[in-house]
Amino acid sequence: MKYFSLNNRENTSSFENAVIKGLASDKGLYFPERIPQLPKGFFDKIDELSQMEIAFEVIKDYVGDEIPENELKAIIDQTLDFNFPVVPVEKHIGVLELFHGPTLAFKDVGARFMAGCLGYFAKKGKLGNITVLVATSGDTGGAVANGFLGVEGIDVVILYPKEKVSGIQEKQLTTLGQNIRALEVNGSFDDCQDMVKRAFLDEEIQKKRQLTSANSINVARWLPQMFYYFLAWKQLKDKKEELVFSVPSGNFGNICAGLMAREMGLPIKHFIAANNTNDVVTRYLETEKFEPKPSVHTISNAMDIGNPSNFVRVLEIFQNEFKNLKEALSSYSFDDEKTKKAIKEVYRKASYVMDPHGAVGYLGLKEFLKENPEYYGVFLETAHPVKFLETVEAAIGKKIEIPDKVKVFMNKEKRSEEISNYDDLKQYLLK
Ligand SMILES: *Cc1c(COP(=O)(O)O)cnc(C)c1O
Repeated sequence: MKYFSLNNRENTSSFENAVIKGLASDKGLYFPERIPQLPKGFFDKIDELSQMEIAFEVIKDYVGDEIPENELKAIIDQTLDFNFPVVPVEKHIGVLELFHGPTLAFKDVGARFMAGCLGYFAKKGKLGNITVLVATSGDTGGAVANGFLGVEGIDVVILYPKEKVSGIQEKQLTTLGQNIRALEVNGSFDDCQDMVKRAFLDEEIQKKRQLTSANSINVARWLPQMFYYFLAWKQLKDKKEELVFSVPSGNFGNICAGLMAREMGLPIKHFIAANNTNDVVTRYLETEKFEPKPSVHTISNAMDIGNPSNFVRVLEIFQNEFKNLKEALSSYSFDDEKTKKAIKEVYRKASYVMDPHGAVGYLGLKEFLKENPEYYGVFLETAHPVKFLETVEAAIGKKIEIPDKVKVFMNKEKRSEEISNYDDLKQYLLK
């Protein structure tokens, strides 16, 4: 499969190059040259297929012959060694739980798949060590650290803002060791991100190290998110109703993967982009005007994004036809008060504990079902509620149980180096 840059269709790339570079040279996002169609037989016999077999059928054409079949299958096996259950919550509502991976957030799948692909290309191309450099405000860093842990030929350096990530998130970044290094920055998330951007432009560093980023626009992080929707459909296909999925969205990578799955033939009728007060897309669907603005802080902080980078891919799927986009996608936005209230209500009525991101997804679904009661709706739980312990416990008025896999690393020793400015980072990367 070839990929083209959304800034210039003539600018094409192999899968390998798109994975290693992340962005095209003209700063455009990569998009596959065509969207493969899955045969009817695949859907008819999905019950007989394992998670791994489903994922392989879905992704194989996007990778093409650039990774041999047995290697690709091994990468998928390592990526999907946990479950993605759909749990009923109300009469016409189920929740797709995406938090059963090692860092309790859905980003585990994309990070692991990307680590597998990049690890394969590093080994094959004898590229020398590649350094993955990332800034994180929380979830991304943990998933990337875990996904790349022990991958040969790859060093990971993670920058995070001191005292601005949760206790659990910090432990996930700083306790792994091996090829994972954490730098604790005296500053904000924006400072971390600025330093990373500068390092990518710094020729002295480029001479010494091969740098790449692991952010959510990389095709190897974006495309495997399609798996969730196929694995959910396998569990829902006997429902009589049409299906609608509500996706709590920030950078719009996850929902964009869902829309790709739909384009490949997966029978999901409609999607909902559920937003917190960062509502660029909700407003776009009302006004047809795309107006990014600075992000505002909310309790669903992984979605605090003022200019969602993957939205250009959503537009491309619909060939920039606003009418077609509106038929497939609705969007709603909810503030923190409504989000907390939803966590409380759903716990009271259904004894189900949602995290703030899932709660925004739930609210979006309820809003849609008011007007469209004939659907069966699924909202995505993108993180385990324990990652947002204080908010969730305050909302439900009760302590929540810490899963064993969290307890394990909460007791491990934190290892990080403190840095205060760009020169510190540069020295670190040059030594
Ligand atoms: C990253 C993240 C999101 C947003 O996903 P996008 O693909 O950026 O839209 C939602 N919830 C959680 C918990 C996340 O970590």
